[in-house]
Amino acid sequence: MPRVVIDAEICKGCVLCVEFCPRDALEMSDATNSRGHHPAVLRDDEKCTGCAVCALVCPGVCIEVYR
Ligand code: SF4
Ligand code: SF4
Repeated sequence: MPRVVIDAEICKGCVLCVEFCPRDALEMSDATNSRGHHPAVLRDDEKCTGCAVCALVCPGVCIEVYR
């Protein structure tokens, strides 16, 4: 199963990864990071195909996908 690692501390909370994920596998956390942003988290790892679209669209380069 692919693994998505999101660096919550550098996430800007822009929601792009959530919007672009073709599998609707990501969501924004209710928690905030030290800069006050709600970071993206993987909601459903069963849905994730490891396509890495989320990593490609992230302007902050906070997502790494391993498969
Ligand atoms: S790797 Fe693809 S399917 Fe998995 S969370 Fe990222 S965009 Fe969604
Ligand atoms: S695209 Fe990057 S910066 Fe934007 S919410 Fe997702 S992980 Fe955070």
